[in-house]
Amino acid sequence: MSNFESRILAMGTIIDQKVQGNESYEAVKAVEEEIKRLQKLMNFYEENSELSILNSIGSYKVSEDTFKVIRIAKEISEKTEGSFDISAAPLVKLWGIFSDDERVPTENEIKDTLKLVNYKDINLDNDKLNVSFDKKGQMIDLGAIAKGYAADKAIEIYKMYDVTGGFINLGGNVSVYNSPVGKEYWNVGIQNPIGKRDNFIGVLMINNKSVVTSGNYERNFESDGKTYGHIINPKTGWPVESEFLSVTVIADKSIYADGFSTALFSKSLEAVKSISIKEEIDVIIITKESEVWVSPNVIENFVLVK
Ligand code: AMP
Ligand code: MG
Repeated sequence: MSNFESRILAMGTIIDQKVQGNESYEAVKAVEEEIKRLQKLMNFYEENSELSILNSIGSYKVSEDTFKVIRIAKEISEKTEGSFDISAAPLVKLWGIFSDDERVPTENEIKDTLKLVNYKDINLDNDKLNVSFDKKGQMIDLGAIAKGYAADKAIEIYKMYDVTGGFINLGGNVSVYNSPVGKEYWNVGIQNPIGKRDNFIGVLMINNKSVVTSGNYERNFESDGKTYGHIINPKTGWPVESEFLSVTVIADKSIYADGFSTALFSKSLEAVKSISIKEEIDVIIITKESEVWVSPNVIENFVLVK
């Protein structure tokens, strides 16, 4: 029995793996290769990625992987009535999110850019794997969902090897396979949104699930004394002013946990509760008043850190 741990930088974040079993090394390396492959396909900021080619020409036949991620991104856009919007990219660009020149745009710029944002304008041809946009200048950014897809791929890979348990963390996007040797659960720390990185507000004990958190503490910028986050409200064109400090979603598939955590960040607590029941996902919400709300299904597996 052997263990193998690795840390790499990819998809704009730190990716940690902890894997146990005879083929832990092989599994970890296979996952690293897979993540690099997916990054080449779906990176919004890499000129030659499949996604960038699609964004520049507006109609393109993509790989099965990219098509699947776009299809699920559109599905989540529909299910959240556009709180998550697969076509939010022009706004993300306008605000300079992830660039060196983040700035507050003018109202006119926002008004013009909003015309390009509507997930209903993204057309998918399931047979031909072709994606096309209704309007010139429309774009797709998979930043709110691609890490989730990569985490799901990692778990698929662990299953293909002689591995007894696995843990992967893509910048706060965690998925676990089975349990660690001699233990019943993996412990997943839930970040304290007002603390430093790795300062946890609680610990979740889980198997075979994904846990993804969205919040403005991860990435934001200040202008004239106001803080702006990196999740945009596609209806107003402004960064979301959330009722929450963070939203954590626990789901079987990380792509859904990732997509819904981004989407639910802009909803009310009542809306979060009803969507979580309908979509069969669990949530841990930290409100602006630092109150913690936990779905009934996971209360027994969640321990608050004192
Ligand atoms: P996450 O960190 O998973 O919550 O995703 C946030 C990232 O998704 C941002 O950095 C943007 O690239 C992109 N994004 C921002 N707002 C939205 C939105 N409303 N719908 C979809 N993607 C978004
Ligand atoms: Mg997300």
